[in-house]
Amino acid sequence: MKTPIKVTITGAAGHIGYALAFRVASGEMFGPKQPVILRLLEIPQALSSVHGVGMELEDCALPLLYDTVLTDDPAIGFREADYAILIGAKPRSKGMERKDLITENAKIFSAQGRAINDHASGDVRVLVVGNPANTNALIAASNAPDLNPRQFTAMTRLDHNRALGQLANKTNNLVADIKRMTIWGNHSMTQFPDASNCLVNGTPAYDLVSRDWAIDHFIPRIQRRGAEIIEARGLSSAASAADAVVDHVRNWALGTPEGDWVSMSVPTDGSYGIEEGIVFSFPVTCKAGNYEIVQGLEIDDFSRSRLRASEKELREERAIIEDLLH
Ligand code: NDP
Repeated sequence: MKTPIKVTITGAAGHIGYALAFRVASGEMFGPKQPVILRLLEIPQALSSVHGVGMELEDCALPLLYDTVLTDDPAIGFREADYAILIGAKPRSKGMERKDLITENAKIFSAQGRAINDHASGDVRVLVVGNPANTNALIAASNAPDLNPRQFTAMTRLDHNRALGQLANKTNNLVADIKRMTIWGNHSMTQFPDASNCLVNGTPAYDLVSRDWAIDHFIPRIQRRGAEIIEARGLSSAASAADAVVDHVRNWALGTPEGDWVSMSVPTDGSYGIEEGIVFSFPVTCKAGNYEIVQGLEIDDFSRSRLRASEKELREERAIIEDLLH
């Protein structure tokens, strides 16, 4: 029997957590032969709700789900976790400044970084979804001194998948026919969805669509897609966000396909001139639990200015929470 993988999900009673837990438990994240143990961590006010999620998981009779732990105690929630998916975060309330949101969430993610450091597996891999995801990942990593910062990532996979969907529609192809999409930067309006390296059935995307279309339609649509969904649904994206979590972790754990890459927000190491000290989205390839930033892509003046804008925003976010970094 394979050893079960322990997956912690914070904010598990929320919209994204609810959409995610069942997919992890049914084998979509690690494959149909890999048992899992779910540790669903919530705040005390949401414990009753997360018990409901636990009951529904039980009622699914999922053969790969070996155990479910429901708790509001981070020491129990993160115990021996192999993967920690940090979704729970304070939402922006009416009249709240962006700076206040960053500061409020910084407290949550510094405490979670410490709890992960003290209780999770030394090999844990962390994905931050709760916003502002990139800066929350930076704070969590910096509060986990015994772990390598490379074990902490933030999610830009939903933006990546949205970009694949839009390019597939525009070129009348399947998403499976498109390779080498990239999201650069922050998971925010300054993100830079970049189709310039994409191949559509082996043909460069810019032989099929114009740069003007990319600048005037594609880039702003991906940047604003979250708002477009809220407008249509009256709620923020949840199923697609959960789907992106599954994709992010599956590729990280099991690898990316040959000849393709995915977008992940990871600690900067100087690649593409983005200096160390922030968590920035890059094209990466993954193999057996490790990732490498794809090197050597051409960055023209237009792309450089977009990368710089997102870097600047992330440095400003960092400055707000500097006192929580170690
Ligand atoms: P959701 O499950 O809808 O969203 C959770 C977080 O994911 C938010 O920060 C949200 O950001 C973020 N997010 C990142 N990417 C996306 C995306 N593409 N689309 C939508 N959201 C995205 O929130 P709920 O309010 O339904 O659930 C949150 C849960 O977290 C609750 O159950 C609550 O009890 C728990 N919680 C835990 C806290 C803690 O651990 N201390 C603190 C506060 C809440 P954005 O808000 O910008 O959309």
